[in-house]
Amino acid sequence: MSIEIRNISKQFGDFHALRDVSLDIDSGELIALLGPSGCGKTTLLRIIAGLETADAGSILFAGEDTTDVHVRERQVGFVFQHYALFRHMTVFENVAFGLRVKPRGQRPSEAKIKEKVHELLSLVQLDWLADRHPSQLSGGQRQRIALARALAVEPKVLLLDEPFGALDAKVRKELRRWLRRLHDELHVTSIFVTHDQEEALEVADRVVLMNGGRIEQSGSPQEVWDHPASPFVYGFLGDVNLFHGRAHEGQVHLEGLRLDSPEHRDVQDAKAYAYVRPHDLDVQRYSPGAAGIVAQLSRAIVVGPIARLELIAADDHQPADNRPRESLIEAQIPAQQFRDLGFREGETLVVTPRQARVFVENAS
Ligand code: ATP
Repeated sequence: MSIEIRNISKQFGDFHALRDVSLDIDSGELIALLGPSGCGKTTLLRIIAGLETADAGSILFAGEDTTDVHVRERQVGFVFQHYALFRHMTVFENVAFGLRVKPRGQRPSEAKIKEKVHELLSLVQLDWLADRHPSQLSGGQRQRIALARALAVEPKVLLLDEPFGALDAKVRKELRRWLRRLHDELHVTSIFVTHDQEEALEVADRVVLMNGGRIEQSGSPQEVWDHPASPFVYGFLGDVNLFHGRAHEGQVHLEGLRLDSPEHRDVQDAKAYAYVRPHDLDVQRYSPGAAGIVAQLSRAIVVGPIARLELIAADDHQPADNRPRESLIEAQIPAQQFRDLGFREGETLVVTPRQARVFVENAS
């Protein structure tokens, strides 16, 4: 079922939790709502579900306004971060619950319920746990059961609020791959809330980035990664170094370095910010006249195949003015290259961006 979110605003007292949010979701899409804590993700999800009312705007399901449709009639399934399974019921009874509480005319027979529950438990690959109680399950198993329970009533829309948030990193990774496969099988229009960028980029068809109650960008994982619409999006999607400089006729002048920025060819002279991911920085030993940003290696940590280098830009040792600056530079190079080059802590190096994203202040 398609969902249209039209101009939704919501205030809690004076606080604007959502500001004029609009978004179209196609039938069968898997959407990640991604953003920092407090940006309004859960509030938006609750409004879509009908658990919260908006101050302005409307939500349409398959073209129909849902404003007057009760939460129970919306055909929405939920999964929350904290497994809301009934503790006194077995896994089987938990999954059967939604079918048993259906109004008389729509309630399936016992035989049908049994068949359906086993079908769902097989789908989440946990049929063998049917007779256990939630306390006898791992966190990951509980979330899969919670999902089976949400799917029992054949929802048209599935809403997941940080479904794997309470699980450890390894189980999270397994479950997000599993969720993707499950979605490919079922094609239920699904929206999941997360503040984990890797999870959103890996699982979703489309990532919707929220900040301060607004949507900053919406696009495929590759679009938002390759073409972040704002410095916020760039910074939120991964570690990033920020270099200050000035843009002039398609070039950006940073300390010790010039970068081409053809998209700013019409800019005469403006403040510019170059954002560079740690793995997009080349690092070499310093030699006089080398083009690049001169920095001192303050720390190097090898984590498996990668060496993470922390450097301090040289000009920060003698600040011309007393303004605070972004002084720490983080670079990532292959661990083997780091060993071969034999960099030592305290050594002066030169860093050069292979790739940068430039934002210009007040660019028209
Ligand atoms: P998180 O990732 O921490 O769950 P979120 O992006 O889901 O954050 P929301 O839960 O939507 O954020 O909350 C958005 C803002 O609205 C927060 O600042 C929150 O404190 C506020 N808020 C949410 N519900 C209420 C409420 N019932 N009363 C007052 N303020 C609320």
